[in-house]
Amino acid sequence: MSTTHENLFERSKKVSPGGVHSPVRGFRGVGGTPRFMASAQGAELIDVDGKRYIDFCQSWGPLLLGHQDPEVREAVQSALGRGWSYGTAEPYSLELAELITSSLPWVEKIRFVNSGTEAVMAALRVARAATGRSKILKFDGCYHGHVDSMLVKAGSGLAEMAVSDSAGVSDSVAAETIVIPLNDFQAIDKAFAAHGKEIAAVIVEPIPANNGLLLQRDGFLPHLARAARAAGAPVIFDEVITGFRVGFGGMAEKTGIKPDLCTYGKIIGGGFPVGAYGGRKDLMDLVAPAGPVYQAGTLSANPIAMTAGLATLKKLKRDKPYAELERRVETLSRAIERALASKGVACHVQNASSMFWTVFGEIKTPDRVVRAPQDIPSAQKETYARSFHALLDQGIYLAPSGYEVSFLSTSHTQAQLDRLVEALGATGGAR
Ligand SMILES: *Cc1c(COP(=O)(O)O)cnc(C)c1O
Repeated sequence: MSTTHENLFERSKKVSPGGVHSPVRGFRGVGGTPRFMASAQGAELIDVDGKRYIDFCQSWGPLLLGHQDPEVREAVQSALGRGWSYGTAEPYSLELAELITSSLPWVEKIRFVNSGTEAVMAALRVARAATGRSKILKFDGCYHGHVDSMLVKAGSGLAEMAVSDSAGVSDSVAAETIVIPLNDFQAIDKAFAAHGKEIAAVIVEPIPANNGLLLQRDGFLPHLARAARAAGAPVIFDEVITGFRVGFGGMAEKTGIKPDLCTYGKIIGGGFPVGAYGGRKDLMDLVAPAGPVYQAGTLSANPIAMTAGLATLKKLKRDKPYAELERRVETLSRAIERALASKGVACHVQNASSMFWTVFGEIKTPDRVVRAPQDIPSAQKETYARSFHALLDQGIYLAPSGYEVSFLSTSHTQAQLDRLVEALGATGGAR
């Protein structure tokens, strides 16, 4: 690494907390100095020194088509010529809303916001307004953005009442959230038996992909949906990662479970800041100005971002890259396992659609699958960090944390995937 990055990081730390604008970018999870990227193209990031990296982070998920997809770029460039913010009604969000509601039947109405966090915050507010209840049920190991009530962890004692997991989140806010373990059908039954009448909504990542890729047993989501329905609690699928990724209709389409509300982000904006929440018409009509639930945004449905989202979703709907991406990730995952096994490194790659997550160390669960945070081997953090740096030196950029998943885009070439396998094999877990 050149000193350029160190100098920029020193300057950055003087003017921004930790030198970054979102925590994981700061490399705390892997140690060392973050690389400052100057540009990106296709499957590659190019740093300020001109060094190129094959990018398996892809901006943390939004770029299913890779960097600077030509169709998205062209749409954005022509949108720029029309101005970049009107603060009025406009036809671009209408077109995107019509595309989504006509393709995703459980999204009867939709509202655009600027991030996944905002979408979650608003969906929870709508559920509380609709039910007149206050508690939200969430799962340990699922991430729903930095909404106060979701920055919580399971407390000890007191029937699943959560405690704050971030400084600045008050105990009274945390206490409105109930946190239970993933993949545990009994915990779901117990929570509803104890709190059923107080639960305003259950929120779940239908494939938890923010604390590693935590694969749930078959039947988990149907069981959860049945329990919630029986208690009269709306089901919120947080599809900020899975939406438009595991298929155009995300996990709602794949499972056939119709969520009452759904949150979107990441891919929906094609790399621009867009989030959205949508769902049952009667619930969405509670939102202002149609109804009493206040929610607003100066830059919401920004025309450039809407255009990028529209170009991205149209291309995904037309080209349907999903089966091919899934097949390629499956092949890649098994190849990584073989390459590391040949060096005597204990490693499993858990994968789903275009996401994969390399787990180092012995998984102690009976079926050798990590389904909840406590199943992650203790070797993960350090072994991943060593591999991460060995790959970075060779021009391969993984997410800078062993608890984040890797993403394949349609722009990755087979040669680039082969390079990843080869490089990982050569590092042998970088012992
Ligand atoms: C990324 C993510 C969020 C938060 O979205 P931001 O745009 O980062 O605010 C919420 N939920 C899930 C499932 C996510 O993956």
